[in-house]
Amino acid sequence: MPKPIGGFWQTLRDFGFSVNDLSRRCDDVADLLATYQMIGRQRIDLPYDIDGVVYKIDRHDYQQRLGQVARAPRWAMAHKFPAEQAKTVIDAIDIQVGRTGALTPVARLAPISVSGVIVSNATLHNEDEIARKDIRIGDRVIIQRAGDVIPQIVRVLSDARTGNETIFDFPESCPVCHAAAIRPEGEAVRRCSGGLNCAAQLFEGLKHFVARDAFDIEGLGARQIEQFIDLGWVQTPADIFRLGDKSAAMAELDGYGDLSIKKLLSAIDVRREIGLERFIYALGIRQVGQATARLLALHYGSAEAMLAR
Ligand SMILES: [Zn+2]
Repeated sequence: MPKPIGGFWQTLRDFGFSVNDLSRRCDDVADLLATYQMIGRQRIDLPYDIDGVVYKIDRHDYQQRLGQVARAPRWAMAHKFPAEQAKTVIDAIDIQVGRTGALTPVARLAPISVSGVIVSNATLHNEDEIARKDIRIGDRVIIQRAGDVIPQIVRVLSDARTGNETIFDFPESCPVCHAAAIRPEGEAVRRCSGGLNCAAQLFEGLKHFVARDAFDIEGLGARQIEQFIDLGWVQTPADIFRLGDKSAAMAELDGYGDLSIKKLLSAIDVRREIGLERFIYALGIRQVGQATARLLALHYGSAEAMLAR
């Protein structure tokens, strides 16, 4: 029989830490499976989402001896619940344009409740995926949602077709800026060639530029960026550092008091100088993530040296 946990955990609880009350101490495999079933039954009523349980060895000395492989400890093991599935209809397929110009198809679904959450979108990944699963607009489909990941389309119920379904024509130009969308040979992704002239790439690029791991400008979020782009104040990342010129005009906007303008401008000012590594990462060059940015920064040592190449 699985037992409530004691020992170390009870001590933590006594100290005032929050400890998950569903945790159980299990003596054998039958206990583990009984606990898995028990939590599975309670899952729908929990005030948070879970996608499975984790079995752990509850002795620190054993944990030390077992160690870990890469980032996976050998003393803990996840046992996932089966993904929740549901039947719905694809109303439309939209294209989203990402920071690097990638065109990503998204299925708009007739809203359906899956494990207590209303789902109305599912990712379709890329055009090959649509072709491979033969997904058409108007199709009845099985979708699934596992944990907190974006819902996916498992398969099309092709027997339920009425003949009114339409094949999706993947666009060869960007739906936002209308520049050519190019798919290089051997790649799965088609990309808008508009660069920063594309409103979608500009918006996503600026969000990345000011994000925490990049320039980390406090108070400059998606809402402000969208507004400043609409006003024509920001057309390139460099324009962020000229927002001071707009402080009078900013005061006329809804939601900008003297204090918040001052705070925003000083948050921008303190980032006029940042580390090279962050700067390279902030540029959002495709395939240059934080690790590569760090290597480039180490290699060049300064922005001047890098630009001189
Ligand atoms: Zn575009």
